[in-house]
Amino acid sequence: MAERVVSALIENHKISGAIHQFPEDTLQFDGLVEVPSEDLCDIICDQILKLVPEGMQIDAVGVALPGIVRNGVVEDSPNLGQLKGAKIGAWIAETLQERGRNYPVKVFNDADAVAAGLAATKGQLDRLVRVWTIGNGIGFGRFPYAEGPWEGGHTVVSLDLKENYCGCGGRGHLEGIMGHRAMRLRFMDMEPDEVFAAAKKGDKRCVQFVELWHRALAAATATQIHLEGPGRFYFTGRDINRLDLSLLKEYLWEMVKMSPLQSYTLEVVQENSEVAIIGAAAAAAHVRNG
Ligand SMILES: [Zn+2]
Repeated sequence: MAERVVSALIENHKISGAIHQFPEDTLQFDGLVEVPSEDLCDIICDQILKLVPEGMQIDAVGVALPGIVRNGVVEDSPNLGQLKGAKIGAWIAETLQERGRNYPVKVFNDADAVAAGLAATKGQLDRLVRVWTIGNGIGFGRFPYAEGPWEGGHTVVSLDLKENYCGCGGRGHLEGIMGHRAMRLRFMDMEPDEVFAAAKKGDKRCVQFVELWHRALAAATATQIHLEGPGRFYFTGRDINRLDLSLLKEYLWEMVKMSPLQSYTLEVVQENSEVAIIGAAAAAAHVRNG
């Protein structure tokens, strides 16, 4: 995750023991974006060593990070820019080896880990699970893993040339409307929480924006439905409380009209780091076994 490192031991899709967190106190911490990638690798390895007593049998280590992750390499990561190009999977495996631990290490996109965690904890490992994570950035996760970048947060949802707030630089992107950083750029005089609060009180500019925010998410979800079919969509993340599910449903209904595509379900899940941790482990075990 972009804000902190959380870790735990997973046994049979359940957390075994305590969840560890770095840093322990996040109040004085600006997030992991300031941490150089080598240091981040060391932090992750320290967490793993803290969790696993020497000699304990471990099937797999799953690490979830924001960005396009392929074959253990972070190919790009707008929200943790220092990781771009980092061969993080090999680094972690080598650093662990230097410390006398020989574990298979698998690296995943963080939203994919959330999708795997939801599939594992809700008994849906045999189904297609898709999730939107609403936080600093907008993540799109999918389980089972399928080859491809799956950068759903950068789905184009607007043709307006003025829509250029996405951290990746692309125009008209979902994250350029819904992302935390993008909202701060759009409303120079208000924080995102203030925008949502003002909308509740009827401030016209903020009401219009909150509608746009929901329309954008509905548009990206509709695109997903038109490409991969209906099914279950989850919505979670740090800023999930900004989501009005009934408004989203109303807009989605306007956008998906072909009857075979209308059997989708939408469900809000409160942000929960346990789900991502369980998912990283489930996905790592799944890759190892499958
Ligand atoms: Zn983008």
